[in-house]
Amino acid sequence: MASTERVFVGLGANLGDAQGALAEAIAAIAAWPGTRLVAASSMYGSAPVDAQGPDFVNAAIELSTTLEPQALLQALQRLEMAQGRQRPYRHAPRTLDLDLLLYGQRQIDTAELAVPHPRLHERAFVLQPLLELAPDLVHPRLGLLSDWARKVAGQPVWRLP
Ligand code: AMP
Repeated sequence: MASTERVFVGLGANLGDAQGALAEAIAAIAAWPGTRLVAASSMYGSAPVDAQGPDFVNAAIELSTTLEPQALLQALQRLEMAQGRQRPYRHAPRTLDLDLLLYGQRQIDTAELAVPHPRLHERAFVLQPLLELAPDLVHPRLGLLSDWARKVAGQPVWRLP
């Protein structure tokens, strides 16, 4: 039976047809066995933070899935690698970045996986799509994420048509 926990994944890309890459990734995830795509946010543009290159396209999705967090991370990484093969040159910005943001109210801290994602509350490009899907979303340690979004409202993020 699918988990009833609300699972959120963040997506980003800043190369080539970034919106197309995100749409493809969302379609691929929606087709995973044992996984249902509950909702997908709008696509947003954002200036690079801790990264180089063109503006990013970002989005968030909510899933219902039988995959446990570690298996979900591995599935996301396989998808990243599949799209990453399309890198036009060595060390190019990644075509697709997938982050496991929240897995219900679970807190995980292993070498491979930190959930909630450690930087999600500091980044407007993560919070804005996330809060579009779930305006009342609560972080297990930090509380209402809308309060944190107000603190990073100065970071430029814009909704794409
Ligand atoms: P990045 O460069 O942001 O794609 O980070 C990838 C690395 O972060 C991988 O080695 C993952 O094992 C690790 N990681 C830790 N927590 C998470 C998370 N919640 N979502 C995605 N990657 C994670």
